[in-house]
Amino acid sequence: MNLILLGPPGAGKGTQAKRLQDRYGVVQISTGDMLRAEVTAGSEIGREAGAVMRAGKLVSDDILIRMLSARITQPDCARGFLLDGFPRTVPQAEALDRMLAEKALRLDMVIELQVDDAALVERIAGRYTCAKCGAGYHDTFQRPKVEGVCDACASHEFTRRADDNRDTVVARLEAYHRQTAPILPHYAAQGKLQSVDGMAEIDAVTAQLNAVLDRVPA
Ligand code: ADP
Ligand code: ADP
Ligand code: ZN
Repeated sequence: MNLILLGPPGAGKGTQAKRLQDRYGVVQISTGDMLRAEVTAGSEIGREAGAVMRAGKLVSDDILIRMLSARITQPDCARGFLLDGFPRTVPQAEALDRMLAEKALRLDMVIELQVDDAALVERIAGRYTCAKCGAGYHDTFQRPKVEGVCDACASHEFTRRADDNRDTVVARLEAYHRQTAPILPHYAAQGKLQSVDGMAEIDAVTAQLNAVLDRVPA
């Protein structure tokens, strides 16, 4: 099953993608995580992308498409993939259509997580992750069972993203509405778009996603 999870920054894409990965065996491909790994590694892509990301702007299509094309052909994606953070513009959606057609791959469904802007600022400001295993948390909405200890791996080290501050969030939300939201009609026209209420609690959103995806023919 090949899927796209769409939604503004902070909508819960990463949180839900990890759960869908466990339930459906699809590999989560987060272009944001991939780019942050390149920045940390100090690679050529990382040096090009770092400053752009810190400003909350979009990295060039050329870099994204090169990175993604290599990733979806890895053997672990044979059972399917879940794109999180790509495509983000209509040209990226069109490039993805071409890339999948060339590889004789089919897109099964595009799921939009709908969340109000006001809720997103709070979600992003309180977001942090385990430095060791990448499990996601929130100061208010998703605290570890034991304060300061990761539920998944028991690590005591956590990190916050450099771009998760209020100024950047406004720029990222603006970019979402201007550049990413116009993708929705592109997939609606293909009959592949499903919208899910992302304002609900985390477990309730997961239940809605499962209900939608359990209907996709294998
Ligand atoms: P995205 O990948 O779409 O940017 P995340 O999955 O990282 O979003 O979620 C952003 C923050 O909001 C995280 O700290 C996460 O714990 C929290 N979060 C995710 N889903 C919900 C939800 N349904 N209700 C409240 N908080 C949520
Ligand atoms: P969020 O969902 O919280 O916006 P991501 O982790 O998906 O964050 O992305 C972080 C940053 O990485 C973006 O602000 C952008 O600079 C860059 N990025 C990620 N995916 C793309 C993409 N498809 N096209 C261009 N830039 C991207
Ligand atoms: Zn952990």
